[in-house]
Amino acid sequence: MSDAPTPHADSPIAIAGDSGGEEAFAPPPRIAALWGRLYGDMRTAFGDGVFRSWLRPLTLRAFYHGTLEVSVPTRFMRDWIQTHYAAQIEAMARAADAEIKGLQIVVVPTGPLVAEEEASHALAGAQASAKANENRRAEIAAIASPLDARFTFGSFVVGKPNALAHAAARRVVESAGVPFNPLFLYGGVGLGKTHLLHAIAHALEAQAPDKVVMYLSAERFMYQFVRALRAGDAMAFKEALRSVDVLLLDDIQFIAGKESTQEEFFHSFNALVDHNKQIIISADRAPGDLQGLDERLRSRLAWGLVADLQPTTYDLRLGILRAKRAQLGQEGGVPDAVLEYLATKITSNIRELEGALNRLVAHAEVTKTDVTLETTAEVLGDLLRSNDRRVTIDEIQRKVAEHYALRLPDMHSARRARAVARPRQIAMYLAKQLTPRSLPEIGRKFGGRDHTTVMHAVRKIEELMEADAQIAQDVDLLRRALAG
Ligand code: ADP
Ligand code: MG
Repeated sequence: MSDAPTPHADSPIAIAGDSGGEEAFAPPPRIAALWGRLYGDMRTAFGDGVFRSWLRPLTLRAFYHGTLEVSVPTRFMRDWIQTHYAAQIEAMARAADAEIKGLQIVVVPTGPLVAEEEASHALAGAQASAKANENRRAEIAAIASPLDARFTFGSFVVGKPNALAHAAARRVVESAGVPFNPLFLYGGVGLGKTHLLHAIAHALEAQAPDKVVMYLSAERFMYQFVRALRAGDAMAFKEALRSVDVLLLDDIQFIAGKESTQEEFFHSFNALVDHNKQIIISADRAPGDLQGLDERLRSRLAWGLVADLQPTTYDLRLGILRAKRAQLGQEGGVPDAVLEYLATKITSNIRELEGALNRLVAHAEVTKTDVTLETTAEVLGDLLRSNDRRVTIDEIQRKVAEHYALRLPDMHSARRARAVARPRQIAMYLAKQLTPRSLPEIGRKFGGRDHTTVMHAVRKIEELMEADAQIAQDVDLLRRALAG
């Protein structure tokens, strides 16, 4: 929202106290009472700050031919209210009484209207608007989720798996306009989605302090929405959401299946896009795979740029560990060999990787010993063991789909085309080899297939691995990638 008032040169509204004969149009008691209620509703709808700065002087003067005529003391105020709040006030008034058709704001000076007074009002107006902005910021902060100060671009290590997502995030911060809307980032647990969203928010706040940036986890969004509904405050919530310049929503998969929350988000999303406000969203999977999300919303989420954070590589893991070690001031304390060992062993996600390093350092400090490969194995025994064998069928499906450039749903679909069916058989084979699951369990995970289909797939792939060097190589590669 701009801070400068936009004068309405062609405004049809009468200026100065020229509404002669107003006695004849004195509002009936019913309308006067309604105005009283509306006054209270405005405070709720626009927030205390805006109300006190701008709306409190609004005075009901007349009612004629369905038009509610209200006055303010200066032209400056009239223009400001006209530009920012009049449409909504009018909508509220019309909703409150069928007889009300329109709203007219006139200027009725309370004292002598001289140029200086206008000027001093303009100044007061600017101050009030700065104050209103501050209040709005406080309102937004009360709704939003807090930002983690450590999650910045500076502490984000870039590697091949996250290069695209990182570049897109930087574009959002560096572009003068809105480069793509929305920016949709997705990837598995602990791969850096939240970190990137926070980094965007921090960078924007530092670079454009006048912008209102709101970061919300989807859970918080849901909680705040329900809370607002219960408190009869939904209007203020909607208004706050729609008044931001940048909205970041983390883990949108959590609103899947929540009808009214989705509906509310969908409307806010559209309103923000219409006003060319930047939206950034994260999820644990691609827009098309978000089951339980309204089809309209799903397709809209893919309108802008979709970028994924892929599972980490050894190089990225090592890079992150090095950066983390430097942050902890442990360059001398934790040898490279230990970092390399961790990067090889802990492949599940970055959060666990960091957790492991923290644990090692804490243990060394408490016991006043050095961090070595031996102490590492000892201190992290449980973690390393659980990372040794934790391949799931979902991971296998994801990895295989990725390797053959298929979509995840192809793993469950009934399509029989060779290009889809063969990778699916490989995934079934790997599921049998790498997980303790039974044939019927595996069949169920592949779109409800029969256990005999799985058995057939396993035999087929065993055969092919003997006969076809390419398949043998693919399977071996996948197996190693999955085993870490
Ligand atoms: P997600 O939201 O995808 O589950 P997070 O953003 O919470 O993952 O990341 C988990 C942890 O890993 C955080 O502590 C985060 O700082 C760290 N992390 C993730 N990616 C990187 C990266 N590329 N560089 C440095 N730290 C990272
Ligand atoms: Mg997260």
